[in-house]
Amino acid sequence: MSQCIDPFVGNILAEWRYDITGLAPEMSCDYEAHLAQCAHCHSRQKLHRTIDLTLIAVATVSVVVFVFAFAAIHHFSPPHALLFEKRAAVGFAFSVVIWLLVAVATPAPVTVKDAAVSGARTLRDRIPNELRVKLSGH
Ligand SMILES: [Zn+2]
Repeated sequence: MSQCIDPFVGNILAEWRYDITGLAPEMSCDYEAHLAQCAHCHSRQKLHRTIDLTLIAVATVSVVVFVFAFAAIHHFSPPHALLFEKRAAVGFAFSVVIWLLVAVATPAPVTVKDAAVSGARTLRDRIPNELRVKLSGH
């Protein structure tokens, strides 16, 4: 495993979970440069963003599963349906709280937005220029 090229900056980044999305642009320059040069910190940053995205994906799946469980219980009305519906509602509420905590406490929404913007740019660059002009109407 590689070592950090500047442990002082590396420790600061580690405390922030390698998230510099909330920093002002003039403050984040040095950290961005470090992340670009340091393979150790860059790989850690990727790992942390992967964990964030996995957490938000699991929370999203959990919300959907509890909604389906509630709908299935409501539709089939098994014995003690009310009890199961209450449990599904509590599970749904808990999942929503977890989803919100992950969305607020991690840069997962920013990571998803950046990936979407990057994907859109790639797609835009692949569209031939003539077609792009026709599509924009100019
Ligand atoms: Zn580093």
